Amino acid sequence: MVIFVKKNSIWLDYPYKESSKTLEKDITTDVLIIGGGMTGLSVSYFLKDSNLKVCLVDKSLIAHGVSSKMTAKISYIQGNYLKIKNSSSLSNAKKYFLSQKEAIGILLNIINKEHISCNLEEVLTYIYADTPKEIVKLQKEKNLLSSWQANIEEVKKDNYYAISTTNYVFHPLKYLYALKRICEKKIDIYENTEIKSIKKEDNYFICSSNNYTIKAKKVVLACHYPFSLFPFLLPLRSYVEKSYLMAYSYPYNNHTALLSQNKSYRFYEDKKIYKIYLSNSHNIGNHLNRKKEYYKLINSIKERPEYLWENDDLITIDYLPFIGKLKSNEENILLSTGYNTWGTTNATLAGKILSDIILKKENPYISLFSLQRNYNYLAIFNSLSNIFINGKSYLINKINPSKKWYSSDIFFKKNKAIIKSNNSEHIVINKCPHMGCPLIFNEVENVWECPCHASKFDIDGKCLKGPSKQDISYQEKK
Ligand SMILES: Cc1cc2nc3c(=O)[nH]c(=O)nc-3n(C[C@H](O)[C@H](O)[C@H](O)COP(=O)(O)OP(=O)(O)OC[C@H]3O[C@@H](n4cnc5c(N)ncnc54)[C@H](O)[C@@H]3O)c2cc1C
Repeated sequence: MVIFVKKNSIWLDYPYKESSKTLEKDITTDVLIIGGGMTGLSVSYFLKDSNLKVCLVDKSLIAHGVSSKMTAKISYIQGNYLKIKNSSSLSNAKKYFLSQKEAIGILLNIINKEHISCNLEEVLTYIYADTPKEIVKLQKEKNLLSSWQANIEEVKKDNYYAISTTNYVFHPLKYLYALKRICEKKIDIYENTEIKSIKKEDNYFICSSNNYTIKAKKVVLACHYPFSLFPFLLPLRSYVEKSYLMAYSYPYNNHTALLSQNKSYRFYEDKKIYKIYLSNSHNIGNHLNRKKEYYKLINSIKERPEYLWENDDLITIDYLPFIGKLKSNEENILLSTGYNTWGTTNATLAGKILSDIILKKENPYISLFSLQRNYNYLAIFNSLSNIFINGKSYLINKINPSKKWYSSDIFFKKNKAIIKSNNSEHIVINKCPHMGCPLIFNEVENVWECPCHASKFDIDGKCLKGPSKQDISYQEKK
């Protein structure tokens, strides 16, 4: 399918001028941060003035992952508190609320202190519901927020209900590139340097990239979906949610942002005004006809989009992020992910919490986000329903890899998939190296996608996005 728009995030149009070096020798460091998105850069920011030698690596360019494709709302009303109360506890929902307010304060403080120009704008943020079931849920969410003295307004109409408060929007890449410039004065940053394996030897972790190793006393996994599976069992504790986004020119900026059950928008004003619109969020194992989802998005507006993209984030079974020690008995390997689509606040918190753990300081949120926390029956039910969706998608794709909506140029032969285009053939192994899930082809983006954990590969099988560490290119045996 040909859609004549820029098939990338609006933020990526902002020029990236200062790329960093690639690792070209073995090195030793106190702290290695793997992943240079919102999480890795936030941890770097909070460690840059410590006495520790800190090094940050990214397999691609800094800030070109999930963080470059968000809608970039900074908000403490997220439609999450009732879900956290039910799948964790009331006290944890309140603690999470306090953490989000604190994170916004920290983020604003960094922007002010470092004079970062990132189109930060105060907006009235609404959460909106228009079905009886969603209205009841939103009213309960409002009651929770009011009981914590949040400053929330209500809008009651015959056919909808909304709550609102003042929050912010910004340009994520202007912020992240500025963080990178600030951090790079004090820490080493390497791009196009992928960590493929981590092994513990004596008091060090030996982290291997393709050709070189980094010996680190402490490691922070800030790589969104971690590439190592055990002992954390992330696929049982979370699922990947995918959403479709577009940006189109709009005549005015009404300085609001809105979220509802399955859509959200905000405005972005620079030389021109854009409305950034997101919809059709779904578990990655559902709605395998990605073309149809893009068409649904485009057909929901009268205007012509100028940018079109998709993004995915990890949703945890109790809606609380994972920030902390990977194992209870191992102080020195830390992880942060699972932000339930609220990465600006949670990655900023991760920066503070993980740096506090590393620097042996107290932090009030360590137990809330601990990876070793227990789950109640609703969280376990969430886990089971995700396993069911992934299992169903696995079987459907295994039994019948060829889909009726694929164009006639895609063929499947045993474990191989062949795409014919312009007199050339692109052959890949149709199986994700991460956990063996059969792949689907996304004809809008021209990529192979894993419908279990969101790895992506280009048409010739080169791995573009983890958790897979390997390509799927097919080599004829000689
Ligand atoms: C549709 C959508 C809209 C969203 N909108 C908002 C919003 O409005 N507000 C908000 O607060 N949040 C939002 N989010 C959430 C937010 O985008 C994410 O939670 C956040 O960006 C995650 O940041 P990260 O640093 O963990 O991941 P990333 O930005 O993906 O960074 C991880 C980095 O690790 C690197 N990496 C991976 N593996 C390796 C390896 N082996 N070696 C070296 N490097 C590696 C990658 O290249 C990447 O650069 C949204 C999410 C989605 C899906």
